Amino acid sequence: MDRDNERTIAARATALGNSADANALQELAELVSSESALARRLAASALGKLAGIVPAGPAVRALHPLLADAHPQVRQYAAKALGAFGVDAKGALDDLRDLYSNPAEKDYVKRSVLAAGKTIREAVSIAERQVRHRCRRCSAEVDADEYARSQRAFQRVFCDKCFDEVYLERRNFDTKVELNKSIRAHDGTFVQSDGERKIAEYLSQHGVAYRYDERMRIIDGCAIRPDFYLPEFDVYIEYWGMDTIDYKIGMLKKLKLYQQEGKRLVSLYREDKSRIDEVLGRKLSRYATLD
Ligand SMILES: [Zn+2]
Repeated sequence: MDRDNERTIAARATALGNSADANALQELAELVSSESALARRLAASALGKLAGIVPAGPAVRALHPLLADAHPQVRQYAAKALGAFGVDAKGALDDLRDLYSNPAEKDYVKRSVLAAGKTIREAVSIAERQVRHRCRRCSAEVDADEYARSQRAFQRVFCDKCFDEVYLERRNFDTKVELNKSIRAHDGTFVQSDGERKIAEYLSQHGVAYRYDERMRIIDGCAIRPDFYLPEFDVYIEYWGMDTIDYKIGMLKKLKLYQQEGKRLVSLYREDKSRIDEVLGRKLSRYATLD
């Protein structure tokens, strides 16, 4: 393209950007595929200026491919412009993230990409807060916290009450509690894992009476199933043996319940398995003197 021609197109793109005219979209959508990088950059910039005036869908569709443009300044202005479209540009978030994490990308592009991503994510979060969500189970309206919590744990919307119920159902299902009690400790108790077997054997070796996996009420309305309960010392032992996200969320929730109720809890983890005797002995000694 000769320079005069390029200058004319560039001037046209700039003028369209300042036109505040919704009809500018069509011409700009063509200019973004101009062979001139200057024209593409100015067209991207113009579309950004027209955010809120031109229809968002087609404008974002015109801008999005420019994130892969060969020219860094075109990528930069495309990112800025996408940011101006807020929630309508949320489909570009993955590509913005990729640009940002590309070590070969220019710093000035990254700065624009970062700012655009932040704006879009904020817009998305505001939009989500404005939408009313209902619990899938009881249809109660849920607030933003309930929405975020249940989405994170289950990728579904539940109110807090249903969350607790679903969580307990899930835990029992996930760990297949009854079916999994297939490991026999020396004293004849069937437990669910090798870690639990070691705990059971340590306790019986030291003459400590225990109840294993009994359903008992710790907090009103929420039945909790501790792994081990030592009635003589009023101490609970939990062996946190799994590693899934759901399990960890459940674990934090359960820990909070123990804490709220001021229960004496000994926590053991998978990494303690090879030296259960030592760790359990040390932690128990806070509450009990063993033989
Ligand atoms: Zn509910």
